[in-house]
Amino acid sequence: ASMVNILFQEEVEETYIMIKPDGVQRGLVGEIISRFEKKGFKLTGLKLFECPKELAEEHYKDLQSKPFFPKLIDYITSGPVVCMAWEGIGVVASARKLIGATNPLNAEPGTIRGDLAVQTGRNVVHGSDSPDNGKREIALWFREGELCTWMPVQEPWLIE
Ligand code: UDP
Ligand code: MG
Repeated sequence: ASMVNILFQEEVEETYIMIKPDGVQRGLVGEIISRFEKKGFKLTGLKLFECPKELAEEHYKDLQSKPFFPKLIDYITSGPVVCMAWEGIGVVASARKLIGATNPLNAEPGTIRGDLAVQTGRNVVHGSDSPDNGKREIALWFREGELCTWMPVQEPWLIE
């Protein structure tokens, strides 16, 4: 990474975004994918997936001791989820902004949770909270052959 890139926080990162079972059931898949697409991030992995309990527990292992943990695992395994890997400059923090606060009632209008949800326990989408967790979660949810390396034609029009 060059000094210029570090100064301007222009690091290419990857993040794991997941549409939770309520988002799939409520028909919000297209709407949610659209927001990341329109922003200008690059989709590198995408699948509809029924999450095994063990994987949900591993994904949320930092929350193991929380009282809501069993309900969270039931929620995430209650139906298919949409697993996505997205890449871009500053994508981790930017995706968190697009998603909005954990409690949808505190999430700003214009964010996914602010526009589309009302409760923490049904907040429709997940996004990695750090570049390290982005890498960890993508490795957890995708096999190697499921990720694509490609050059969107719009890239020269998005990044100078
Ligand atoms: N969660 C919950 N009750 C809480 C806090 C969190 O059910 O009091 C769920 C909620 O689905 C949230 C997930 O656990 O999205 C992970 O919590 P975290 O604090 O990591 O929030 P996030 O990073 O998803 O905003
Ligand atoms: Mg989190």
